Amino acid sequence: MKCKTCPGKAVIDIRRHNAAFCKDCFIVHAERQIERTIEGDKMLSKDDRVLVAVSGGKDSLTLWEVLRRLGYHTTGFHIVLGIDHYSPQARATVEGYAKKNGLPLIVTDVKEEYDFSIPELAEYTRRVPCSACGLSKRYLMNRTALQGGFSVLATGHNLDDAAATLLGNLLHWQTPQLGRMGPALEATHPKLVKTVKPLVRLTERETLAYAMLRGIDYHDDECPNAVGATSLFYKDLLNQLEYASPGAKQSFYFGFLKKGRPAFLAAQTDGVELKECEACGQTTTTETCAYCRMMDLARRTAAARSR
Ligand code: SF4
Ligand SMILES: [Zn+2]
Ligand SMILES: [Zn+2]
Repeated sequence: MKCKTCPGKAVIDIRRHNAAFCKDCFIVHAERQIERTIEGDKMLSKDDRVLVAVSGGKDSLTLWEVLRRLGYHTTGFHIVLGIDHYSPQARATVEGYAKKNGLPLIVTDVKEEYDFSIPELAEYTRRVPCSACGLSKRYLMNRTALQGGFSVLATGHNLDDAAATLLGNLLHWQTPQLGRMGPALEATHPKLVKTVKPLVRLTERETLAYAMLRGIDYHDDECPNAVGATSLFYKDLLNQLEYASPGAKQSFYFGFLKKGRPAFLAAQTDGVELKECEACGQTTTTETCAYCRMMDLARRTAAARSR
């Protein structure tokens, strides 16, 4: 198999583009896709201070690598979740990457700073771990970006992630979420930071190939809580569709953004007034935000058990 753009031997084929690339041409192709996404969706400017959420996996480190190479002002943000041997390895990977590239990094250890690891939070509040984890991450990312004066928060969600989230939201008719499905969400409140997903035109397979070909030392252990996650099931279904019909994921997600999302935009804000949480000041639609309520329940449960 020959590279589409040079006489070299191809190392990866991309069926939805009907193309194959050698190592160097694939790297150029992937970086161009990301650059086009950033420019096309007006995600970032060179004046922005960008907080990059980094778990240490292939997607988030690919994102940091490309933003760094494109000349954006980035700071990494890593959350230590306190999950068995997964979290120490993830932290070491992110710290190693930041050190090697001379990049600033903010690390928040939820157990040290907020008293509970994710498994403890899940147990004390009777949530599934991914629910406690997702709520904590969203809260801490926004809060850290605000407190640090960052203008944008960038996350490493790829096309597979975006398409799986869309499928889940459609299956459950989550209309406000369907209105918020875009890869760039402007801040709609002074206590919210703009969020962007620059990898959304690359599939998981492509970000993996990029990370490997660039020699990025990413963390490839799966979180133990991911086993059996619904999102993985959706991804598997979408991969089957993609195999039978190359380009299905892309047309599902980007077709929705173009033709379906406008119908749900009103539902995003219909009758919803954003207020500031009376405990922490972050945005909420109730008196106290979901994160503060979760933490309060965890503290009360922990106190009751220690009696
Ligand atoms: S799989 Fe669940 S618990 Fe593990 S990092 Fe992801 S959201 Fe958090
Ligand atoms: Zn080539
Ligand atoms: Zn709060």
